[in-house]
Amino acid sequence: MTETERIVEKLNRGVFPRVSELEYILGDIPAEEEEFLFGAARRTAKSVFGNKVYIRGLIEFTNFCRNDCLYCGIRRSQSITRYRLTEKEILECCKEGYDLGFRTFVLQGGEDPWFNDSRLVHTVSAIRGRFPDCAITLSVGERSRESYRVLKEAGADRFLLRHETADCNHYGKLHPGEMSFENRMECLRSLRELGYQTGCGFMVGSPYQTMENLIEDLRFIWEFKPAMVGIGPFIPAKGTPFEHEPKGSAELTLRLLSVIRLMRPDLLLPATTALGTAAEDGRTRGILAGANVIMPNLSPENARKNYSLYDNKLNTGCEAAENLAQLKASMAEIGYEIVTDRGDSPAYING
Ligand code: SAM
Repeated sequence: MTETERIVEKLNRGVFPRVSELEYILGDIPAEEEEFLFGAARRTAKSVFGNKVYIRGLIEFTNFCRNDCLYCGIRRSQSITRYRLTEKEILECCKEGYDLGFRTFVLQGGEDPWFNDSRLVHTVSAIRGRFPDCAITLSVGERSRESYRVLKEAGADRFLLRHETADCNHYGKLHPGEMSFENRMECLRSLRELGYQTGCGFMVGSPYQTMENLIEDLRFIWEFKPAMVGIGPFIPAKGTPFEHEPKGSAELTLRLLSVIRLMRPDLLLPATTALGTAAEDGRTRGILAGANVIMPNLSPENARKNYSLYDNKLNTGCEAAENLAQLKASMAEIGYEIVTDRGDSPAYING
């Protein structure tokens, strides 16, 4: 039995591996052990979701942001063309997505104060009213518990808020002093308590990240039990303090996806745009490493080019919602099927 087989077997038994075991499996394991790891994660995903891949229509509705996260291409200090979609434009994106077969809309944006509670609640209610059979996911950063509550009441089902790193000191190196690790964690706890299907996540290879940090991230996911986890390689963005930092590894991202899948079989785990940008066929390889969600872009053309979180972010080809046929074909080639479904985690369907 190889070391990887032993660790996978441990994960399959629902045991959190030792630090040295995680260091091993996330390190430079031999190619055949890596294949074994991917295959095991794939089988676990298939045992819960079959060969189905869920799609989410991503609507990047504002690139205004009050925050100045050091890694982000839409941080407050960037001099970029700012835009925000009107409610009418957001609803048009949803309609276009609905007609294509999307049953989840993800509203993602910078922390834009213009979208105060009454405006955002209005938009969420409008989507809920027009598309009652769809799930609404918000990814709009840190807000008050009361804000999360009224948005949930208006019809939002899920919320993605990456924790970015589970290490408080590392958090401080990625964010300006005015942002706090404690508040981010508090937000995540509030979201879960309010009944959102809550997603956390982190960048792989963000500046100053150590193997120890990654293991803390895994432990956090293990303990927090999110419904979704979004991970993708860090990719430097021009004009940010981290523009000359090296990009994160797609290979390590794939190994992490597999470990996360084995830790949590019923998790909604996207093969992210950053993974697709960092490696050729990154998203297909993500599915083959145990991911089960893809989030094509439904934003209007203009918005796409201005929502550049990092350099060379993909927004055409299989990334674009209108090219769903191409995405379906590339998934069919590896034996997977894109489904028109809200795509809830079984843990939530069963209560
Ligand atoms: N403002 C919301 C928030 O903070 O959750 C949502 C938008 S934010 C831009 C979405 C995610 O993009 C972040 O959580 C971060 O992990 C990721 N991101 C930002 N800059 C990135 C970069 N340079 N490389 C890879 N991912 C990045």
